[in-house]
Amino acid sequence: MNPIVVVGSGMAGYTLARELRKASAEAPLLIITADDAINYSKPVLSNALSGGKLPEQIGMGDHAKMTEQLKASIMAHTQVLEIDKENKTLTLRTDAGIVTQPYAKLVLAVGASPIRIPIEGDGTSEVYAINSLIDYKTFHASLAQKKSKRVLLLGAGLIGCEFANDLLTTEHDVTVVDLAPRPLGRLLPQEVAIAFQKQLEAKGIRFELATTVKHIAHTDTGLSVTLANGQTFEVDIVLSAIGLKPNTELAHAAELAINRGIQVNQSLQTSHADIYAMGDCAEVEGHLLPYVMPLMQQARALAQTLTGNPSLVHYPAMPVSVKTPAAPLVVLPPAPHLEVTWNFEELEDGMIAKATIGDVLQGFILLGPTATKQRMALTKLVPDLLG
Ligand code: FAD
Repeated sequence: MNPIVVVGSGMAGYTLARELRKASAEAPLLIITADDAINYSKPVLSNALSGGKLPEQIGMGDHAKMTEQLKASIMAHTQVLEIDKENKTLTLRTDAGIVTQPYAKLVLAVGASPIRIPIEGDGTSEVYAINSLIDYKTFHASLAQKKSKRVLLLGAGLIGCEFANDLLTTEHDVTVVDLAPRPLGRLLPQEVAIAFQKQLEAKGIRFELATTVKHIAHTDTGLSVTLANGQTFEVDIVLSAIGLKPNTELAHAAELAINRGIQVNQSLQTSHADIYAMGDCAEVEGHLLPYVMPLMQQARALAQTLTGNPSLVHYPAMPVSVKTPAAPLVVLPPAPHLEVTWNFEELEDGMIAKATIGDVLQGFILLGPTATKQRMALTKLVPDLLG
């Protein structure tokens, strides 16, 4: 019998595999991954420094352990090059060469890739991006070699702000640059973004906003950074956290429907019946939610579907805690198509912002230690995103 094949051993692929094993002890399962198949929790990467965790302490299970735990075959360091959806086969590049692998059902859990902006100069080799444990190891090793602790973060989004806070906690001198005029511009209304920025600035993070990096050059003492607004300063290392783009190339080449991500319906089925997608690469009924809670909901439903019990993914309201202890923040942005009214309540140590339509709470932002305590109570009031 041909196996269920899952492409990707990130949180999406492994969470699905665990749910599959709960639903069926026997279903033949093959996980194919381009990386080393180490199981790790990606959110840990942006607070590992302050948590005192070394990169080698982050992995929770290697290839052998995961094979045993999941009762699955796992092919590591194997790139899926092509999907032949008519013959239900994959073309793989393995250490031993190109091979063909048949599947019964295929799940794409191929994640997303960091967006890079073009920067001039010979210092761009010192620009790192972190979207995996392997990336983190590389960055960490380079950071440890620097004589001084000046870090430039490109991007004031969720991940950029988390890394900025983490580096600050370990006494790095942190400057964050973003084209947007405020941090977390896509998630926060201006009022909260201003307060969030002030709290981070008060703890020592420097923001250079409404500009971008044009040039990075090596000097005798580090890297000279030139911004589009003309400012020049020195740093030792650059971390780029501009954003992530779903990996859609494989699906696109197989002529599956693509929008911002691989388009799937509420069964997580792509435009082809035997191929599913989940995690950061998937756009579920128009929702692109690259976070942990959505992929857990997806895994539960998809495991049922793949083992003969067709199920729809259910999205309750799913707030995200931003790991910036210098300015604790919980965000549950309203769905983008909703025309909401924002109400703001100032607190001594932060702010509560509620997005409503009539009497119905559609989303909220909680800033500061007092506000974030309301996470559970407010989440219960927000309608499901996908019933
Ligand atoms: P990935 O982890 O990217 O896995 C993709 C897998 O696909 C990899 O194994 C890769 O090798 C494989 N692959 C890709 N293409 C191929 C191919 N062609 N052939 C074979 N294999 C392939 N979310 C939260 O909810 N809360 C948080 O606090 C939080 N913190 C985060 C902190 C950081 C630093 C980052 C980067 C993200 C954070 N997120 C957080 C988001 C969350 O971690 C992701 O949504 C989640 O890890 C995505 O998992 P994934 O399996 O979809 O993708």
